[in-house]
Amino acid sequence: MTGDLHLTNVRRADGDLVALRVRQGRIAAVGPDVRADGITPLDASGALLLPGLIEAHTHLDKSFLGLPWQPHTAAPHLLGRIENERALKARLGLDAATQSARQVVRSVAHGTTHIRSHVDVDPQVGVRSVEGVLATRARYRDSCDIEIVAFPQWGLLTRPGTAELMEEALRLGADLVGGLDPAAIDRDPKGHLDLVFSLAERFGKGIDIHLHEPGELGAFSAELVCERTKALGLRGRVTLSHAFCLGMADQDRVDRLIELLAEAGVAILTTGPAGWPAPPVRRLVARGVAVCAGNDGLRDAWTPFGSGDMLERAALVAMRNGFRKDGDLALALDLCTGGGASVLGLEGYGLEVGAPADLVLVEAECVAEAVAAHPPRKLVVKRGRVVARDGKALVEAP
Ligand SMILES: [Zn+2]
Repeated sequence: MTGDLHLTNVRRADGDLVALRVRQGRIAAVGPDVRADGITPLDASGALLLPGLIEAHTHLDKSFLGLPWQPHTAAPHLLGRIENERALKARLGLDAATQSARQVVRSVAHGTTHIRSHVDVDPQVGVRSVEGVLATRARYRDSCDIEIVAFPQWGLLTRPGTAELMEEALRLGADLVGGLDPAAIDRDPKGHLDLVFSLAERFGKGIDIHLHEPGELGAFSAELVCERTKALGLRGRVTLSHAFCLGMADQDRVDRLIELLAEAGVAILTTGPAGWPAPPVRRLVARGVAVCAGNDGLRDAWTPFGSGDMLERAALVAMRNGFRKDGDLALALDLCTGGGASVLGLEGYGLEVGAPADLVLVEAECVAEAVAAHPPRKLVVKRGRVVARDGKALVEAP
């Protein structure tokens, strides 16, 4: 029956070898004496069991995957990069449905069972990119769950018509309202955030805002976000992506910001960025702030890098935070599993009996090795169905 599985010789994080029974897409039993009940067993050969990986921030509509190599041509500042991307997308005629499908298949092969993708909404592409990613979401619904953030990459107030397009994207099926550097891009932090929060309130959606603004400017925008989150009772439904300002040198100021984020229930997404100030993961988690991780865009107009592998991302987050000990590598992985599930609001996520059987098996002795070595995934299971084996997805990309 679809969604039924019996796995043997599965290694738990505590090192014990167990069997795992899945019935109708959910974990039905885990332990040393679990019976197969007529299901042909699959031997995991001692591979480590992890819950499905959560890609909490990417851009499925932007990647150049499947196209000839594109030399990186962007200017070193944000506005220059945005303009460069506009020109490239138009020249290459990027099709969001095709590009997002290619990236999703790659993510499935890496054991990602949930994706939150920001998708461009602007007067140049209208809502076509959202429609493309919606088509991909439907096409791969049995392999990966996809959340869509309507993302005004080009500016919200400075591009007339964008607010109306954001509404259209939300009506079409986008799950969250996006925003971007309220002071640095629109140069009107109050106007930008009032519009983002009013859209979220009217449509009953969550919010995920790209905040690259550095230092005190970013701290100011983060404070405005926390104030509005508290005022509108949106605790647990607002994420600040990147939040480079939390990597600023003034530690007292960072502590006050972390306190504010915890009080407001605003989550933080980090990529563990090289070359930028990074949010201090351990301090945020210790204060009870929900922290998740994502690859951001991969091989696109913004960066030539990126594999789409969330175990590799956990390693990058660990390195950026100076993590070396096993417990710290486990914390880095938690951003890509439980942390992501908490930010995406996934009910019942995990490895307990009754949880949806979204599982990854990795050839590693323990969690720390899985993060450090991030070997190819032996098996990936989505709601009890095998969707990837030995590093290859069983679904195809165009
Ligand atoms: Zn992004």
